[in-house]
Order: sequence, then structure tokens, then C-alpha cells
Amino acid sequence: MKYVAVVCPRCGRASAARADAKKHQCPYCGTLINIEKAAVIAVGSAKAVREAVVRHNTQAT
Ligand SMILES: [Zn+2]
Repeated sequence: MKYVAVVCPRCGRASAARADAKKHQCPYCGTLINIEKAAVIAVGSAKAVREAVVRHNTQAT
């Protein structure tokens, strides 16, 4: 199973979604993100994507 880390266009926070999903709901603000159009900051294993999400959300203050 591959995952992607996508950045929410509304609140700017990253979250992990399945790579084969088309849409993903932001767990922070509830926005439905179109994965094909959103900014993807990482692709890979669940671990790699989770680390990218944490890194992104730590930097975004
Ligand atoms: Zn959001």
C-alpha cells in the first residue's frame, strides 16, 4: 500500500492519504481535498509519508 502526503489548500496543513484515493478529507478543517490537484509533498510507505506530514506541520507555524 502506497501513501501520499497532501497539503490542504485551505488550512495549509499536511495529512496522509492512500495513494489510490481520489479525494481526501482534511482532518484539521474538514475540507475535501482533490488529491490529483493538491500539492503532494511525499509519496511512499506509510512511515515515510507520516514523517513528511509531521515535518511539514511542525514547520508551518
Ligand atoms: Zn485543512
